[in-house]
Amino acid sequence: MSTGGRKPGRVLIVGMGIAGMATALRLHSLGWEPVMVERAPTRRTGGYFIATFRAGLAPAQRLGILDDLPDRMPRTNTQWDIDRSGKRRRGIGLFAVPIWNRLMLRGDVEQALFPALPDEVEIRYTTVPTAIEQDADGVDVTLHDTAEDTSTTERFDLVVGADGLRSSVRSLVFGPHERFLRRLDHMIAAFVLPEQPGYLAPGDGAMLFEPGRSLIIYPFADHLPTALFSYRSTDIDAEFTRPPAQRLRAAFGPPPYGRILEETIAAFEAADTSLFDSVEQVRLDSWHRGRVVLVGDAAWCPTLYSGMGASTALAGADLLGTVLDQHPGSLEDSLTEWERRLRPHTDSYQQLGLKARMVFAPPTRRHITLRRTVIHLERAPLIGPALVRRRMTRPEITMRDIDIAQTAQPPGGAPADSPADSPAAAVGATAPRT
Ligand SMILES: Cc1cc2nc3c(=O)[nH]c(=O)nc-3n(C[C@H](O)[C@H](O)[C@H](O)COP(=O)(O)OP(=O)(O)OC[C@H]3O[C@@H](n4cnc5c(N)ncnc54)[C@H](O)[C@@H]3O)c2cc1C
Repeated sequence: MSTGGRKPGRVLIVGMGIAGMATALRLHSLGWEPVMVERAPTRRTGGYFIATFRAGLAPAQRLGILDDLPDRMPRTNTQWDIDRSGKRRRGIGLFAVPIWNRLMLRGDVEQALFPALPDEVEIRYTTVPTAIEQDADGVDVTLHDTAEDTSTTERFDLVVGADGLRSSVRSLVFGPHERFLRRLDHMIAAFVLPEQPGYLAPGDGAMLFEPGRSLIIYPFADHLPTALFSYRSTDIDAEFTRPPAQRLRAAFGPPPYGRILEETIAAFEAADTSLFDSVEQVRLDSWHRGRVVLVGDAAWCPTLYSGMGASTALAGADLLGTVLDQHPGSLEDSLTEWERRLRPHTDSYQQLGLKARMVFAPPTRRHITLRRTVIHLERAPLIGPALVRRRMTRPEITMRDIDIAQTAQPPGGAPADSPADSPAAAVGATAPRT
């Protein structure tokens, strides 16, 4: 393991999502001493569907967790285009084309990362940062334990904000949320269905598209389906002033809703855990300031519409370790280099997220008809495969399959570590957390 001139030191990682745990794993493998703080009282489990592309699977391999990531893609399934009256026809399905490298739940990625964290990685739940002050030699962070209502101030060599879209680290160090969050004027609601819907055979999925809104039921091979509502909204603040199920009924109104919407909204209302949020991207000129760096959604959230948030969280954490190792002399140089190599990819995923709004909430009936026509053509025996191939080779799609650490080289720079000799390969040798 190369630690170079600047010795790895004590690193505070705020947030125990995919970005936080991947960063802890990677930096620990390079000799850093990670302390993780998480706002929640326990580790989250479950979650919604996640497609993980090569951009995420390649770093997952280097982090030593690839074999623990399941592929829950149903092998024989039909994706139905369904309307609220129950009329259905075969759709193209998000899973019918070879762009989804692996399908899983968000919790699957976290469940793979957590046991890989070595015992030396300290974890403190119900803990949030409330003040961050840095000087040339380190960062003083005040940490508040919300369960005990106590605070301590501790010194770290590096602080990583991996605390998601509404990052506290970002607001404490970079500025208020309003400066960096870009609302896409869409809302989502996601949850795991309590049972297989009676109108769908196991493994089948359903998609209901109407102007400005959609409901997608994602099937899995060995898990209950998850449902995702998406809709356009002109007043995002107002969305949070009423109970989410009430908002869904209004957004998908007027009645009659039909069986699929009725049942799914009722199940959402009864669900123990669900997600109801606005779709927002994070736009920052720089992801680092001194000894504080943002990773994952906190830095570049591309939104779920891009399908790249989890993959990039893994890639960003992996590459952060690589550049810290490659530029041992200067933290500023390392972080600048990290950002230079990663940003073209996150920019491209954000573009994808913007464009994909059309898919999740088609603006007009014409867009829905156009989508159906494309599906029809892509199923046609002669022209179909060529059309699918053309779609699959669009740059924004192929970007998803690039292993960022291997290809985004500095001009004339040394090649990044290969999986075999990467410092992350050492991760497998550390004691797993049970
Ligand atoms: C419905 C849906 C579908 C998606 N589908 C895909 C997909 O197909 N493919 C894909 O790649 N991505 C997908 N994503 C995006 C992906 O889930 C996220 O981009 C990814 O999980 C981001 O991880 P993160 O660790 O950066 O942030 P988060 O998952 O938000 O984790 C942040 C963590 O920080 C904690 N935290 C927050 N504030 C504080 C604080 N002040 N102090 C301490 N801890 C704090 C939180 O509790 C949380 O544990 C989807 C997202 C959604 C919502």
